[in-house]
Amino acid sequence: MVIMIHQMRAETGPTGATDSVVSWHIVRDADLTALCGRELAADAPLQDATRWTVDPDHNCHTCGALFLRETPYLPDEHTG
Ligand SMILES: [Zn+2]
Repeated sequence: MVIMIHQMRAETGPTGATDSVVSWHIVRDADLTALCGRELAADAPLQDATRWTVDPDHNCHTCGALFLRETPYLPDEHTG
């Protein structure tokens, strides 16, 4: 059985600075293409997908919906 690992990859601002996160997307493994189809920079910040609920205001809504479909359980998010 293949275990799909999801990570959060940042979409950064025009300058590309790693501290200018515009929004967080979900990628599979180390993919550069988010679930929503957006291409992300290879040097963009990454963080574990378990942090998805930490700062919801900066999450990509499309990625969130697709992510939840691929991961039927999410320990502290049962509102969707
Ligand atoms: Zn996205």
